[in-house]
Amino acid sequence: MLDANDTSSKGFVWLVGAGPGASDLITVRGLKLLQGAEAVVYDELANADLLKNCPPGCELHSVGKRAGRHNATQDEINALLVALARAGRKVVRLKGGDPMVFGRAGEEIEALRAAGLPFAIVPGVTAATASAAAAALPLTHRDFSSAVVFVTGHQCAANTDALDWQALTKLRATLCFYMGVRRLPEIAHNLLAHGMAPDMPLALISEATRPSQKIVITRLDAAEKMNAEEIVQPALVVIGEVVRLSDFAARVPGLSAGIER
Ligand code: SAH
Repeated sequence: MLDANDTSSKGFVWLVGAGPGASDLITVRGLKLLQGAEAVVYDELANADLLKNCPPGCELHSVGKRAGRHNATQDEINALLVALARAGRKVVRLKGGDPMVFGRAGEEIEALRAAGLPFAIVPGVTAATASAAAAALPLTHRDFSSAVVFVTGHQCAANTDALDWQALTKLRATLCFYMGVRRLPEIAHNLLAHGMAPDMPLALISEATRPSQKIVITRLDAAEKMNAEEIVQPALVVIGEVVRLSDFAARVPGLSAGIER
């Protein structure tokens, strides 16, 4: 396999998962690639401490999203990756979590393919598994959940049919909503409207694996009335019976800790 110590002059792009926040939750492979990178193109969600691993002289390109600053468009990011690789650089494209989960890796891969440039993907710990670990919440306890669904909150406006709410309600699955916090009341509303139980437990996990991590456990009916603006981002919304198994569930009035087996 190609690695960052390869001495060939050809450019190469590695799409590397930075993990969810804690700087030691990157893979060993990802870390080694950073240590040998000639250029790094990184997102806001990737922990900036990781950049300390880059060698001297490594070009650093921030394409993150921060209020009040120019956000690179996806086309600009694609063009930057292509230009750097064409110039012969060993490029690490560092992305929060896992590149293949709501990470727009697909668009970047397409651009690199179209330009005939070589690339590889290095997976990372995605927000759903990091949040499950943070809350001691098994996403797939065999007694309570037959599936895990990663859902984007972007399509969760009330009364739209972009998502099949009926199917989500009936699946007996653990639902993990990425980018869903601002739409939490609408998500809860839609699930309730399609018959999910009002006392279905729900976990809000903010900044999982960072020192500032915060976990709130509540019920679906309470979430419908929550002020989403107050929830610290990034945060993941996890909905399902398995949330009852989290240590944190025991402290929530109206939610029995654990489930009778
Ligand atoms: N590729 C990333 C997801 C990017 S989408 C991954 O695999 O994790 C961005 C969304 O991910 C955020 O809106 C939030 O819902 C979630 N997220 C990212 N980091 C998180 C963290 N540390 N804690 C909780 N949620 C997080």
